Parts: sequence; C-alpha cells; structure tokens
Amino acid sequence: MPNRAVDCSCPESMLLAVLDNLPGNQQLLACVRCGHVELSDALVNEPHPGDVQLLGYAWIEMSEAIRDWAGSWPRFAMIAEKRVYLSAQCLFETTAELSAAIEKAEADQSGLELRERLLPLGVPMAPSPESLPEALSGFSEIWDALQWDDQTPIEVVLAAANRFHGPRRLARNFLAGLPDLSARAAVLLQDSEEEARSWGRYLVKEFALSGEAVLTPIRGRLRQLADNSTSEMYEIYALLREMGSEATGARPEVEAAIERVAKSDYYMHQDLVKLLAKWQSPG
Ligand SMILES: [Zn+2]
Repeated sequence: MPNRAVDCSCPESMLLAVLDNLPGNQQLLACVRCGHVELSDALVNEPHPGDVQLLGYAWIEMSEAIRDWAGSWPRFAMIAEKRVYLSAQCLFETTAELSAAIEKAEADQSGLELRERLLPLGVPMAPSPESLPEALSGFSEIWDALQWDDQTPIEVVLAAANRFHGPRRLARNFLAGLPDLSARAAVLLQDSEEEARSWGRYLVKEFALSGEAVLTPIRGRLRQLADNSTSEMYEIYALLREMGSEATGARPEVEAAIERVAKSDYYMHQDLVKLLAKWQSPG
C-alpha cells in the first residue's frame, strides 16, 4: 500500500489540496513541483479512541478527462487558518519559491470573496465530465455555484449554504449580497416545511438579523411546538440565545415552553430556564 498521497517523488511540502476539503479521509492533492494530481483515501486504524494510526493511502482511479478537469482548479495553502489559493498553472522548483508565491497570493487575495479569488486564477470552462467520482461531487456543485445569477432560485443557494461540502462559502457570499434578507427570512420562518424554516433560522443567525420582522415568526413557531421531539424547539432556543438581547421579546413564548416541557424533558427545560435567567440578568 502506498505511503504517499501522491504518486510522485517530490518533497511532501510541495503537495497542496485542490479547491476544497473532501468528505471523510479522501483528498485531492496536487504536487506543485511536477504537476501530478492524485485522488486518495487515507486508510487508518484506531486501536483505541483518539489513537489514529495511518496505514497508507489508496489511490482512487480517475480517467484522464476527470484528472484534467479536477486538477485544473486552484489549489490552496493554509496560512493562519485561512486558505490562500494558487493557480493550477504555477509550478515551483523549490519550497522557497512556493513560500514566496503563497506570501504574494496572500497579500493579493486579502479581503476578497472566494469567487473573486478563484476566477482570476482560472477555473474549468466546462462543467464536470460524466462519472465524476462521488468524492468530487462538491467540485461539480462549486462549478454550478460560479454560474449563479439573479435568476437562480434562492432555495438552491440556501440548500448549498447548509451543506458542509461543496459551495457553502460561495452560497454565503451570494446570500450576503441579496437585498431584503430580513423579509426573505421572515417568509421562510413561516413555511410549512421544517427545512425551509431551518433556512430562515440560518439567515437570522448567519447575518445577525433582528427586529420584529424575524422575531415575530420565530415566536409564532415556538408557540406551536408542544415539545422538542423534532429538535426544532432546541433549534429555536439556540437561535434566541444567539440573538442575545434582540430576542427578549420572545420571553412569553419561552416561559410558556418551559411550562410545557417541565415534566417531560429535563435538558430542554434546563436550557430554556438558563436562557430566561440570562435575559433577566444580562452579562
Ligand atoms: Zn511531484
């Protein structure tokens, strides 16, 4: 079994992840010295909890077309927990050259949104080839997200914003640029589908929305929940906590919910009681 994630003999320091993290232990790495791109799955053994041993890598087969397409996305280095992207065109002979390029890219990309970082570096012109490996489905979704415009249904963007892999960051940036976020959140918070309501809560939390427009539907929904059997009561509690003093208008609904779960749900009861206490003595 190979003990390297990429099938080349360049220094490990020349290996960078392409575009995004993948699910599980899979990764798409590019060697920025020789240009080789590999999709691998790290095989690990965990004899005791927390004691993870690397056994080696399985290289996942890709057709030439898929390797070219996936490998042509920018790759990234992590600097101070932030991603700094380099073009797939750039190859470097030494680690020092690579470090200098990363440093320059960090300065160039500072303050830019992800879309503005990726496009100048070069992204694939065409959508993904057929039979893209499952591990790379997020890449295909990111390609789609770069085509979003004002005709794109907001549901598509909200769904992407709430998935861990794929165009989560692009979706957040896209939503941040929309007008009337509070009004959109208010509509979602009253939807009959729980998923839509969860998207409404996402907007409130992510963009720190406040005011009657969003608080009224949140209060209305909490009134309707008999208990936390669907986890929605907890989600609303967590949102109200996040909203801080902006949410204290929901006090009557929280007090009523405390009564409803007092005998049936110890943890939910405790959480709501603590929230109320926090509102009574802020700070
Ligand atoms: Zn190499």
